[in-house]
Amino acid sequence: MCGIVAYVGGQPAYPIVVKGLKRLEYRGYDSSGVALVDNGQLNIYKKKGKVTELENLMEGKDKSSTVGMGHTRWATHGEPNDRNAHPHPSNDHSIAIIHNGIIENYASIRQNLLGKGHQFVSDTDTEVLIHFIEEIRRETGQSLEASVRIALKEVVGAYAIVIMDQENPTQLIAARKGSPLVIGIGKDEFFFASDATPIVEYTKEVVYLDDYQVAVVSHGELTISDLDNLPAIPYIQTLELELEAIEKGGYDHFMLKEIFEQPRSIADSMRGRSNASEGTLQLGGLNHYMDKLAQAERIVIVACGTSWHAGLVAEYLFEELARINVEVEYASEFRYRNPVIGENDVVIAISQSGETADTLAAIEIAKQKGATIFGVCNVVGSSIARATHAGAYTHAGPEIGVASTKAFTAQVTVLTQIAIAVAKRKGVLQENIYRQLLIELETIPEKVQQLLENADKVKEIAFIFTYARNFIYLGRGLNFPVALEGALKLKEISYIHAEGYPAAEMKHGPIALIDEDMPVVFLATKDGSYDKIVSNIQEVKARKGRVIAIVTEGDELIPGMVDFVIEVPPVHEILVPLLSVIPLQLLSYYIAVMRGRNVDQPRNLAKSVTVE
Ligand code: GLU
Repeated sequence: MCGIVAYVGGQPAYPIVVKGLKRLEYRGYDSSGVALVDNGQLNIYKKKGKVTELENLMEGKDKSSTVGMGHTRWATHGEPNDRNAHPHPSNDHSIAIIHNGIIENYASIRQNLLGKGHQFVSDTDTEVLIHFIEEIRRETGQSLEASVRIALKEVVGAYAIVIMDQENPTQLIAARKGSPLVIGIGKDEFFFASDATPIVEYTKEVVYLDDYQVAVVSHGELTISDLDNLPAIPYIQTLELELEAIEKGGYDHFMLKEIFEQPRSIADSMRGRSNASEGTLQLGGLNHYMDKLAQAERIVIVACGTSWHAGLVAEYLFEELARINVEVEYASEFRYRNPVIGENDVVIAISQSGETADTLAAIEIAKQKGATIFGVCNVVGSSIARATHAGAYTHAGPEIGVASTKAFTAQVTVLTQIAIAVAKRKGVLQENIYRQLLIELETIPEKVQQLLENADKVKEIAFIFTYARNFIYLGRGLNFPVALEGALKLKEISYIHAEGYPAAEMKHGPIALIDEDMPVVFLATKDGSYDKIVSNIQEVKARKGRVIAIVTEGDELIPGMVDFVIEVPPVHEILVPLLSVIPLQLLSYYIAVMRGRNVDQPRNLAKSVTVE
């Protein structure tokens, strides 16, 4: 979601801030802005659209300020336009704020401030917050920092904020609750950002701010304290992120780069965990909890979007291999029900960014009810990684494309490893199958590579279907979540309406949609339900649907029945999603590119969904 970047130090802030905003572009946004202090004057510049629009606006402006902050907005309150873009100044224009999140009680605060003569120029909740801070400072005569604390105690909602003060241009004040904020510590300079990508080229020393913490940089000193002003010792971590990991490296889009990185990212997710020749499988972060998992009566998986699909794959895996009952929940629904959950339950929260607001809230609820919580996240040090009892990182590397690809396969890889390890610990997995799965897991990166080498075949099929208006994706068993994921990928980046279904459900409704214009993607690899899926294909062909089938290499039956075939290498059926999803990612990518879509930043979407 929105991006925050701020800088204070010895260099001109603007180039650092604007470059940082561009690094955060992948998170999705609709407008941007910066605040600088020039000759003792707080100046704010903002513009609807891409960061390049802001850069055009900044041409010829004084950019010498050594303090500055910038924001890319993902509108929640008020339409995306210049007026609603951040930063927002106070009534007297002496202080300004950038904000990620939602101030839920903004309407009552606004009403109160209107009665005190405040005038608002935007429709945002954010502007209300900075006016509120200004009013507290005026009424109490306290410092800006103290006024921020008082205001934040009154605020309901989520925020990551940075505040600048015209009177005090060596100072930046930041705070967070619910939305991420990282502080980079350089030599006599400090950086604030929503994630580490804008910081990594300047320093690797960072502090992740915790909820309800306030960070103040003043005259080259950083202090962190809570809302009661009790000091906290900053925990400085060293970033492992490398600059090249957040650049395109010769690919047209981040999404394509990330699709092609999968042989490596899947291998990285397995590295140091499973070893087929030694017959070992260990997930360091879960070591102390393996018995808890093996004895769990039930596993509840909470996630959103693509991570939810990875959760559905895990449901099959845990049930099949470890014989544990699994429920997969949308985090956004789970948190607002009164879920029946207790000490014997294990909750697995899955999130690429580790910042997904609904998933975080679901974790808190499950924790209060006494459940043990594990996280499967990609971003090291993220809020979910910190909120859970234990977990396993996916090690996919930074995922910049909004449509998740390598994070999904990394999640499935890690969840597969957890399911195998738990089944083994429980004693319900035969040794020969255990061994075979470890051996086959190690072949996955090479098989994914083989699939990627045939990307041109998928491209040709994409060309034929570029102007389709609808798509249906069908699969059974472990390929059902893959069908959902394929449909989601296509709609996210091409804006074609697509539906995923369990193939057998087709007869209960969607079959009415089939005619000669309807493309239907079948996941028809050789597994236990192969014969059933062959019948489903026949049902679609009988109604003249145009079928693209993902089949196992060497299949001699299906190619004769369908319009197009994409082959995947043979693999144990438990591991099939790691292969069958690859051509679907490529199909969506090529269709979207051929339709001229902005693949890396599809409309209305944001990468890390930090608001509910
Ligand atoms: N709620 C604020 C707004 O609508 C901040 C949104 C964001 O996180 O970008 O302006």
